[in-house]
Amino acid sequence: MLNMFNLEGKVAIVTGCNTGLGQGMALALVKAGAKVVGVNRSNPDETAALIKEANGEFVNVMADVADSNTPNCVLSEAINQFGRVDILINNAGIIRRNDAIDFTEKDWDEVMDVNLKSVFFLSQAFAKQVIKQGSYGNIVNIASMLSYQGGIRVPSYTASKSGILGLTRLLANEWAKDGINVNAIAPGYMATNNTEALRNDESRSAEILGRIPAGRWGEADDVAGPVVFLSSDASRYVNGYTLAVDGGWLAR
Ligand code: NAP
Repeated sequence: MLNMFNLEGKVAIVTGCNTGLGQGMALALVKAGAKVVGVNRSNPDETAALIKEANGEFVNVMADVADSNTPNCVLSEAINQFGRVDILINNAGIIRRNDAIDFTEKDWDEVMDVNLKSVFFLSQAFAKQVIKQGSYGNIVNIASMLSYQGGIRVPSYTASKSGILGLTRLLANEWAKDGINVNAIAPGYMATNNTEALRNDESRSAEILGRIPAGRWGEADDVAGPVVFLSSDASRYVNGYTLAVDGGWLAR
């Protein structure tokens, strides 16, 4: 049974894995047997060291996911280094906070480009390669509670993450027949750089914590099991689904 979760021989691309959830997921995939190709705009030395400690293999492509050349660079580097690709984790993401009335075009475009547009084009390049290989593929997009809820003061983030939920379904519909499963993980409130401002705001932080049935902020480790499941043969008949990993937030 546990063999279904084994990722030995598989190659996983993980965007934004120098820190936070991306780092946790890269390490989880390595511990399940995968080799990892990171895509980072900041140096992923800490991740490289953790993977080395776990006796895993890791190469990094230094790139901005919003750059339109990135998908081709990433795929050719992955093929050069490891000869194939099997898993894509679209994790890199940014957030901008401001009242909707004052929100700028720059804050709209930057977030949409990183959180949504780059996910589509990297997925497209990955799918072309998997189809060429004639193998199975697994794509896991990182959604959010704001794929389901409106949020406040984060208009482009909500639009991008709601878009991720729909895009996950569309790509699953088109590519299931090619053996490519596309799903998403919607993390709840996790203690990473992304939520630093929220956690530093005492009243917002208390409000949020008070609503989480599990009674704590999530950690990178909490997405380890779900990402291995959605990257493995264990989820072969799961298509187009967004799995909340939220300590019960949405159940309230
Ligand atoms: P994080 O610590 O801020 O990590 C975000 C990662 O994305 C970092 O590695 C960051 O690199 C990278 N990144 C951002 N823009 C990039 C670009 N243009 N090119 C390449 N890499 C880029 O936050 P996190 O919480 O781990 O976020 C990971 C994902 O989970 C994001 O998609 C986020 O929206 C989502 N999420 C987080 C939460 C939460 O509560 N934390 C909840 C729901 C969803 P730098 O270090 O260089 O900035």
